Amino acid sequence: MFSAVAMEATRRRPKHSSNSVSPDVTEEPAGQWGRAWEVDWFSLSGVILLLCTAPFQVFFFVMACDQYQCSVTQPLVELYSGEATLGSIWDKAPSFTWTAAQIYTAWVSLQVVLYMCVPDITHKFLPGYSGGVQDGARTPAGLINKYEINGLQSWLITHALWYANAKYFHWFSPTIIFDNWIPLLWCTNILGYSVSTFAFIKAYLFPTNAEDCKFTGNVFYNYMMGIEFNPRIGKWFDFKLFFNGRPGIVAWTLINLSYAAKQQELYGYVTNSMILVNVLQGIYVLDFFWNEAWYLKTIDICHDHFGWYLGWGDCVWLPFLYTLQGLYLVYNPVQLSTAHAAAVLLLGLTGYYIFRSANHQKDLFRRTDGKCSIWGKKPTFIECAYRSADGCLHHSKLMTSGFWGVARHLNYTGDLMGSLAYCVACGFGHIHPYFYIFYMTILLVHRCVRDEHRCRSKYGKDWKRYTDAVPYRLLPGIF
Ligand code: NDP
Repeated sequence: MFSAVAMEATRRRPKHSSNSVSPDVTEEPAGQWGRAWEVDWFSLSGVILLLCTAPFQVFFFVMACDQYQCSVTQPLVELYSGEATLGSIWDKAPSFTWTAAQIYTAWVSLQVVLYMCVPDITHKFLPGYSGGVQDGARTPAGLINKYEINGLQSWLITHALWYANAKYFHWFSPTIIFDNWIPLLWCTNILGYSVSTFAFIKAYLFPTNAEDCKFTGNVFYNYMMGIEFNPRIGKWFDFKLFFNGRPGIVAWTLINLSYAAKQQELYGYVTNSMILVNVLQGIYVLDFFWNEAWYLKTIDICHDHFGWYLGWGDCVWLPFLYTLQGLYLVYNPVQLSTAHAAAVLLLGLTGYYIFRSANHQKDLFRRTDGKCSIWGKKPTFIECAYRSADGCLHHSKLMTSGFWGVARHLNYTGDLMGSLAYCVACGFGHIHPYFYIFYMTILLVHRCVRDEHRCRSKYGKDWKRYTDAVPYRLLPGIF
């Protein structure tokens, strides 16, 4: 789910059986359509810049609320005028606490237990839900991994426990997350860096599948973008599936609930803006877990390698920056007019509808191999072929009907509309909550470019036929 803006580097053809590729199929060697093999200076500078600045960006946005009522300009003005120094800002920030460490350890342990020890039963009684053991997509080396899909169940159990605590047990306050927010930031960083470093070392010493490892020869790029494709411990602890969904995304809705509880505690009421943010982001999170099996086929799981940008990103960036709207609303309790609230709801739900329908159309099309109905008609498509690293020829289809005939990434457009709705729910007082839409725009536009580069490498001339048939990416007639 989280992706920092991954740097696309130049590609080099590694030594490989040269006779495995027919030039008619793809322009690159077999199985080389994953991430880069060689890094250029531009990409390397971007990687080093992100490694050095991303943790401070997260700190800045959280600290701005803690010390400056969520103004992002005030700290800069004070720093410029000499009223504040980096040292004075740092001194005022809450530091690491053992209480936060205990909370976070309990949280991650609970998620590990739910992930590893509670096989999915929800798929047995929830109609239409795909859980339990599922196949992933074919890896560049030609493997198909199996995954235990139980994210929805983990989410339900976690939230039932949260509710039971708030209503009956009162073991901890529902504001616990907010009350320990900056100390928790240090704990998430410890886990984020530890898991990324572990994955990096593991790739050299005991990779899960050596055939699916990629080494660029540049240590920073390898650390950030990952070497192993699907690192695992044992048969089932899959790093990508675990860190991508839990602990970050299960926490997302709890973090928002904690913000709502804090508003209630501070002001005696919860604003309609806070309710909107909770509801719209709640739909997005539930959608993620309802479709967890489908997410196995998305870029994060089936194309990205596991490095710092997934490991640290899922532990730190996602829970802290995807929840900025709720944090902002604790410090600035915006009550929206009915018209404003209705417009936010409409934008959010329309965005969600486009996002979900486009994703569903592609999934249905691929699952049925094109034997389905899209917008009441048989779908049109372009036949294409590619090779995996073992030299095997595979066939695929690119749909040109439904949302996928309107533009090549309308699912991203819907996602961006939803993201904008969360921000607009916070009113227009500060730019702080709008960071999310800036970030998502950069992320998804870059993802378009990255994905299309990969598809061009994978499908060669067939991809060109597809882009001729569907010329726009996100906005028909514009981009
Ligand atoms: P897509 O679901 O758009 O998948 C892209 C892949 O789909 C391509 O690589 C290609 O894979 C296949 N494909 C492309 N065009 C077609 C077509 N016309 N017909 C059939 N298959 C096609 O991208 P993502 O995995 O990036 O995103 C999944 C969802 O997750 C999106 O809706 C996105 O908005 C969301 N997302 C959210 C993020 C967040 O942080 N909130 C971050 C990232 C994504 P193949 O090789 O199989 O042909």
